[in-house]
Amino acid sequence: MKLSFSDEDEKFRAEVALWLFENLVGEFEQLKFRGGPGDEHMFPLERKKWEQKLAQGGWTCIGWPKEYGGRGCSIEQQVIFNEEYARAGAPGRVGHIGEGLAGPTLIAFGSEAQKQKYLPGIAAGTALWCQGYSEPGAGSDLANVNTKAHFDEAKGKWIISGQKVWTSLAHESDYIFVIARTNPNSSAHKGLGFFLMKMDQPGIEVRGIRQLTGTSEFNEVFFDQAECDADDIVGQPGEGWAIAMGLLNFERGVSTLGQQMQFQNELNQIIDIAKANGKSQNPTIRQRIADAHIGLKIMRYNSMRMLSDTDDGGLQKEALIYKLFWATWHRDLGELAMDVLGPEAEILESGPYTLTRLQAMYLFVRSDTIYGGTNEIQRNIIAERGLGMPKEPKITA
Ligand SMILES: Cc1cc2nc3c(=O)[nH]c(=O)nc-3n(C[C@H](O)[C@H](O)[C@H](O)COP(=O)(O)OP(=O)(O)OC[C@H]3O[C@@H](n4cnc5c(N)ncnc54)[C@H](O)[C@@H]3O)c2cc1C
Repeated sequence: MKLSFSDEDEKFRAEVALWLFENLVGEFEQLKFRGGPGDEHMFPLERKKWEQKLAQGGWTCIGWPKEYGGRGCSIEQQVIFNEEYARAGAPGRVGHIGEGLAGPTLIAFGSEAQKQKYLPGIAAGTALWCQGYSEPGAGSDLANVNTKAHFDEAKGKWIISGQKVWTSLAHESDYIFVIARTNPNSSAHKGLGFFLMKMDQPGIEVRGIRQLTGTSEFNEVFFDQAECDADDIVGQPGEGWAIAMGLLNFERGVSTLGQQMQFQNELNQIIDIAKANGKSQNPTIRQRIADAHIGLKIMRYNSMRMLSDTDDGGLQKEALIYKLFWATWHRDLGELAMDVLGPEAEILESGPYTLTRLQAMYLFVRSDTIYGGTNEIQRNIIAERGLGMPKEPKITA
């Protein structure tokens, strides 16, 4: 694993920085440092436009192969891009589920026709995606999915009925990938399908869920006889589980690189406040800031280590510890922010009820240890897949 960047990579860094300096201006200036955790609802239209601006500059999907509209960038270059993106204060990406999850999954498992149909829109920043995995009875136990899909011969389409929940950005998305049961008599991970669906159609209803932060970044999504084209199932009916799990590798891997760089901005903000209000003189706070800084470096090098020398997006075993590490680190950062702010942390600026960035961050980071696999589930994964310990016993009725 390389720990420093080549001259060529540093040239790439300069190119990224220059492009952002020249383009994150004018109407996009207001997006600086916006759209992160707890702030994802802000400037949706402007951030969609920003996605397209990025695409015009060739800065979306940079890790994808060139033949699919990407830039074929190495892991090192992707890290550099994300570092410079965060340094410039560029906004949270509304296209991240398409770019980081749907796209890589289609590249790995999709048919050529599906790649041709869906990848260009993602690369162009014009097609936004959301993730239809979780259901009221299927979160950690994702194999418990109950949403049904049956093939209607007369229509030549898949018909989907059921409910998803916690669907991030569904209200802003053009497409959703959905795991649904193709065999009504099946159970657990057997008999599932992985479907690509248009959001804007009769039979799909999106209802926002109000969160602790007072905002609505995720939703319930109801499917009532919604339609999916025959060609829009990825793999074969019954193969959905393997594809769904393949996608989670991407969720736990490359897509978190960008997020990590956002963390640096938050830590910088906390350090600035600590210096300004004198908390930086408090030895315990100083130690916690130092620990946070070290944690961030560990995350960066571990992500480079786990993403090195992989083929087909498959991650090394190191990846198993990554989600648990960053989620816990980020939750602790929220607590550090509150302690650095002191009594100010509990004061609202004025009515109407608006949280400051760090207050919103503190509330939002509680969810980091839940989505994409809870801390408890990550510990099970580390024990079973990483350390080869016996599987946890299943409770049968
Ligand atoms: C901000 C946010 C965004 C999200 N976005 C999306 C999205 O876009 N698309 C999507 O499909 N989903 C999304 N989710 C859902 C997320 O993936 C689920 O919340 C997560 O998988 C946990 O499932 P659950 O909420 O049903 O909790 P449950 O599975 O009911 O778990 C409840 C508690 O029990 C524990 N537990 C459960 N099983 C075990 C076990 N075997 N061993 C030990 N402990 C266990 C859990 O760790 C947890 O503490 C999002 C969630 C959040 C918070």
